[in-house]
Amino acid sequence: MISLDEVESYAAEHFPAAPEKLVNDFGIEVRTSDTPGCDGWCLHYDDRTIIRLNGELTKAQRRFTLAHELGHLILGIPSMFGESFEDMLSSDSDEERRVNDVASCLLLPLAEVRKDAGQLPVVAGALKRLAKRARVSELAAAVRVCNLTEELGLLNASVVAFSGADIRWQWSRTLRMSEETAFELRQEAQNVSPNAFRADHNENQTVVASVLENPFFGSSTLFVQLLPKEHGNQLSVNELRAAFEREYLSSDDAFRNRLSGIIGAFKSKCVGLSQEEAVELFWEKNEARLRSTCINTDEGRDYIEIRIGQLL
Ligand SMILES: [Zn+2]
Repeated sequence: MISLDEVESYAAEHFPAAPEKLVNDFGIEVRTSDTPGCDGWCLHYDDRTIIRLNGELTKAQRRFTLAHELGHLILGIPSMFGESFEDMLSSDSDEERRVNDVASCLLLPLAEVRKDAGQLPVVAGALKRLAKRARVSELAAAVRVCNLTEELGLLNASVVAFSGADIRWQWSRTLRMSEETAFELRQEAQNVSPNAFRADHNENQTVVASVLENPFFGSSTLFVQLLPKEHGNQLSVNELRAAFEREYLSSDDAFRNRLSGIIGAFKSKCVGLSQEEAVELFWEKNEARLRSTCINTDEGRDYIEIRIGQLL
């Protein structure tokens, strides 16, 4: 098995499939079972290592649980029988937290997190993109960002998971919020979604709250961050993108679809390019057909830069 020091680089090299690759490289057997209340555990037996996952988990939950069990193996901490997915994600025990740190690192290495959450503030759109690229739940992506406050330049952060009208659990290393504040911030964030809600925390700090809705499960995730004022008050790329789309593209479906076709078709052409090179190539190829549109303005060109940055 790889050592703890190797986890980050292994995960970056094999992103987004590091857990699956690890299973393959070390000949670990993964089996499905359906023991109620137990979503994953691992056991050794002769010289075999077997991980059992509950067949009823969603795909994203299954991947998190697999990474969690691999975390047990990497740290040499025995896995407990009877752990549910939610126990794993929200456990207070020190050992389980260390296991989760390894699991998050396997699924969401820092280098990849930075690509979506490197620009502050981190808003719902960034967490969604990160979750999609890493093939994890939005909740797992939010928890990972919450655990990387220092690395990403956040002063503090907290994640609250809601089930309908109730708070299921709250996660933060150091930011404590009352339930009342959590409900208030969720409401404020819902009012301005997909943008983030901002409020002064004190003279130098801003609170930024974003909400991720999962209507299928009737659940939502609130991501709250505390930032230095100059970062908290600037608009994120996702908000700038949404603002341009609202202002210039919302009333012209035909042009919006044509543009999204042009940008979509460009994706395969910018593999391996830097953002600057990709933007230059984009204009080389598309200048003629976009010349007399809203895209050929300062704001439009900024918009293209954002869209291309999100393709890379
Ligand atoms: Zn565990």
